[in-house]
Amino acid sequence: MKPQDGAPKVTYSTFADNEDLHRSFEAAAQQVRHWFGATHPLLIGGREVDCADKFEDTNPADIRQQLGRFGRGGPQAVEAAVGAAAAAFPAWSRLDYRARIELLRRGAEKISERRFELAALMSYEVGKNRAEALGDAEESADLLRYYCNQMAEAQGFTRTLDRLSANEETLSVLRPYGVWGVIAPFNFPLALSAGMSAGALVAGNTVVFKPASDAPFTGLMLGRILQQAGLADGVFNVVTGSAAEVGDPLIDHPKLAGLVFTGSFEVGTALQRRFTAGGPKPCILEMGGKNAAIVTAQADLERAVEGIARSAFGYGGQKCSACSRAFVARERYDEFVERLAQYARSLSIGDPLERATFLGPLIHRAAVDKYRAAVDQARRDGRIVVGGEVLDSEPFRHGHFVTPTVVDQLAADHRLFQEELFVPLLCVAPVADLNQAIERTNRSAYGLTAGVYSQDEREVREFFDRVEAGVTYANRRSGATTGAWPGVNSFCGWKGSGNSGKGACGPHYVAQFLREQSRTWMH
Ligand code: NAP
Repeated sequence: MKPQDGAPKVTYSTFADNEDLHRSFEAAAQQVRHWFGATHPLLIGGREVDCADKFEDTNPADIRQQLGRFGRGGPQAVEAAVGAAAAAFPAWSRLDYRARIELLRRGAEKISERRFELAALMSYEVGKNRAEALGDAEESADLLRYYCNQMAEAQGFTRTLDRLSANEETLSVLRPYGVWGVIAPFNFPLALSAGMSAGALVAGNTVVFKPASDAPFTGLMLGRILQQAGLADGVFNVVTGSAAEVGDPLIDHPKLAGLVFTGSFEVGTALQRRFTAGGPKPCILEMGGKNAAIVTAQADLERAVEGIARSAFGYGGQKCSACSRAFVARERYDEFVERLAQYARSLSIGDPLERATFLGPLIHRAAVDKYRAAVDQARRDGRIVVGGEVLDSEPFRHGHFVTPTVVDQLAADHRLFQEELFVPLLCVAPVADLNQAIERTNRSAYGLTAGVYSQDEREVREFFDRVEAGVTYANRRSGATTGAWPGVNSFCGWKGSGNSGKGACGPHYVAQFLREQSRTWMH
């Protein structure tokens, strides 16, 4: 994907230390502050709909700062949104696919034009540092473009099939289902929301989108931008509010034809059971991970330390792809652990809007509590190599700040080796050889990302062939957290990490939002 205006391309791993980018981000951060403190409606049927009940959205780096008050939608709002989406479906689905593409590409342009504002908003709302936030905004626009290209390349997914007689013609046509629910997590509040929505929309479905409760502002911005791009009323609806008040009635709605969800295993599998209880319906789930990296005796240790640290601690471990287990060849173990601890100590923690900050806050108090409980358990059952602190004095007192943590000497089946924690805590263990490292990596209910650091090509090939994960990599300095970009890598979960088998950012994504109809016509 090309930069839009000659500006340097920003991804999660390639944020150039470019003065213009920093100046633009800083100006946008000032601008965005003027938005705070307002009260926001829901977006239903192309109209701003007020909602009597509200909830507050605050900055996780300083919870005294209120970003806005958002509508606490409920069953009535869901009913109205699904109704609006159902009413918009016939016209949107029958619109020529090229017209849908044109509108969504316009949406991508608008996201690109406003990428600094959107990035600054995400820094305030979910605590992303500059590079992470800009990467999220850029990826959102690229996801829209990429899925539009997929639809265009497939020529709307209509193909002529073979014929059995001269006067017979059969077409295979992929057709949209109807109204899709889009349920997104807090951690990529624009990219995942835009990506999932774009897949559904370009295919001709209409959408009711429920953003995460921790990121309603970014979710609503996506709705406003798509509206400005010219999507017809009711094609894209946003209902903010809680899982119970918005999520449950949405899942239960009889007119909801499909569901695309990104979030945790527990929530995703419960939603799937509930959504498909009455019969089969398409339900695309991308879920969590307990991602491992392997460091063999043949590794370039400097690269391994950097890749694993960035992957484990980038955005506070709050990425589905984050590395949370490392298996290291016994003969390199002590050196690796020492260098990793040094690297972890060097990471700057602070306000994510500041240029120097690598690690901002965790998303909410519950995440800090989870971190604290894991650290206590690690202290009891193993060793804290580095980190393990909750930062509660100035200047961190009003935010959810913790330190990057490395833990070892835990039993192989310890809870901390099994459960996704979504905090910056990495469990490390020595292994005898690559065989044992792969065996330990695969001993997980999840299968999202996995990496290997080795200079030996045979080891790398063996790893790729045997590892049970959807996103795999070798010798990346930027680790797994930056593994996906539309058209560059696809992002797909195996085992407990996802059910689609055709991941986001990949070349088969859009077809999942369509069903086949075979049309035989005798002339
Ligand atoms: P989460 O707790 O599972 O929530 C995800 C979304 O589901 C939120 O919008 C949440 O709403 C909603 N939800 C929860 N219960 C619901 C219900 N009963 N009905 C309908 N909706 C419901 O996940 P999270 O904490 O936001 O995000 C972190 C998780 O996402 C991690 O497990 C991470 O690995 C995963 N993730 C996976 C990928 C991937 O591509 N595989 C990418 C990013 C994140 P509320 O916010 O209102 O509770």
